[in-house]
Amino acid sequence: MLSMKEELTARIEAYDKWASRRRYGPDGPNNRRLFVLTCMDERLPIDEALGIHVDTPPGGGDAHCFRNAGGIITDDAIRSAMLTCNFFGTKEIVVVQHTQCGMLCANARALETQLQDKGIDTDQIILDPTLPELKLGKGAFAKWIGMMDDVDETCIKTVEAFRNHPLIPKDVIISGWIWEVETRRLRAPTQDPNKRARTDATTADYGVKDKQPPRWTVSI
Ligand SMILES: [Zn+2]
Repeated sequence: MLSMKEELTARIEAYDKWASRRRYGPDGPNNRRLFVLTCMDERLPIDEALGIHVDTPPGGGDAHCFRNAGGIITDDAIRSAMLTCNFFGTKEIVVVQHTQCGMLCANARALETQLQDKGIDTDQIILDPTLPELKLGKGAFAKWIGMMDDVDETCIKTVEAFRNHPLIPKDVIISGWIWEVETRRLRAPTQDPNKRARTDATTADYGVKDKQPPRWTVSI
């Protein structure tokens, strides 16, 4: 049995190592060597969904977790995944999207129109004030909003996009999952209507009729 002195010494050393991980590049990875891309939604508890500890308890540190609206692939999701996979020792990417997602509840063109009605010129927006070079082509704003038609389909395409992206190393393991808000369970993305029956997974479930502006027309 360790003495209290030995135990405390080991605990402090372990904490110091944890706190200074990023000094060691690929040799200072997070606990699971894992990058999680998921939706910002407050009904998606990522620790519970994956059985890991991202934020809780303090000092968990199982994964780098990136949240955005929808948990979709964006330039900043790629930027973050590129950094952790190439420079911080991450070997796996997990994408978690979810049913009842706000990104299903409207058509992106209708949202763009609402902004235009407020006097915003959506063709002249600087997306990132620190990087004015980052520009959208004319008419691409609605696509940029990133609304979905079908969360399962989007999840599968998101995984494919990471797999095919030149900034993500080929040996990184990549998978995608759907969190069912209704049942508090994780499932693989599927088009099987029986497996989706208890959940709202498409814009049609919200009464949205028009297809979203296509976001997946360019293959990398
Ligand atoms: Zn969502």
